[in-house]
Amino acid sequence: MPNKRILVLGGTSDANVLAKELLKAGHHVVTSFAGVTENPVLPEGEIRIGGFGGEDGLFDYLKTGEFAALADATHPFAAQIARHGVNAAARAGLPYLRLERAAWTPLPADNWISVPTTEAAVAVFPDAARVFLTIGRKEIAAFLAREDLGGVARMIEKLPFEPPSRWALVLARAPFSVEAERELLVQHKITHLVTKNAGGKLTVAKLIAARGLRIPVVMIARPPKPPAQTFGSAPALVAALA
Ligand code: NAP
Repeated sequence: MPNKRILVLGGTSDANVLAKELLKAGHHVVTSFAGVTENPVLPEGEIRIGGFGGEDGLFDYLKTGEFAALADATHPFAAQIARHGVNAAARAGLPYLRLERAAWTPLPADNWISVPTTEAAVAVFPDAARVFLTIGRKEIAAFLAREDLGGVARMIEKLPFEPPSRWALVLARAPFSVEAERELLVQHKITHLVTKNAGGKLTVAKLIAARGLRIPVVMIARPPKPPAQTFGSAPALVAALA
């Protein structure tokens, strides 16, 4: 049934696709952003920006906004908002639907070093490794603090501090081509790539390039989230709402 008010927890390209699909199906959509990126790519429909103030704040927002469902399309590593979402929707008596891309899995030609957390990733590099860091800004400090490491750190927006001179900063937004990723790995003499297991096609080129160059990949596993009805594509989620 169309014309429902849906709150989308956003901050990903998948959330923007979902907002578009929900609007196309005749729903009213409000997409919520945490407010951590200065210039986010905004989806169609209504937008709100900033934290809710924890689970209670999200519960209040759902009730006063008269929403019919909560669609969580946040990043697979955004575990706190997922917990808040599951609990707040249950308390409000609303369906919680999660949109999440499947995780990447290694091919026989891959050399993955799998680690459970970002903190664990910092410890696995051999001395003086040349690292391509693609984990964003938030958890980067521990890598930069290891004085024997250097390489390239890629993120969307500048760091609020100057990185050590051993590191080159690349400010860029996905998607990237396999050829450009290969060139970056070669040019900076990268020995290890580190990434969160985000899944999806948007940032997979770096894995393909690393595979071709036989560069080991330090793969950070997804954090646990409370179980929920999960959809691999926006149309599947929209169909379930009907
Ligand atoms: P998180 O640890 O799960 O959440 C931290 C807090 O940020 C939440 O408690 C909530 O604040 C607020 N928040 C998160 N997502 C929100 C949303 N869509 N709308 C309103 N408030 C939100 O999340 P995170 O890992 O810091 O990620 C923050 C945002 O960046 C998410 O929207 C996520 O989709 C996006 N993102 C994250 C990653 C990543 O690697 N973690 C990568 C790409 C994009 P209150 O408690 O005050 O409500």
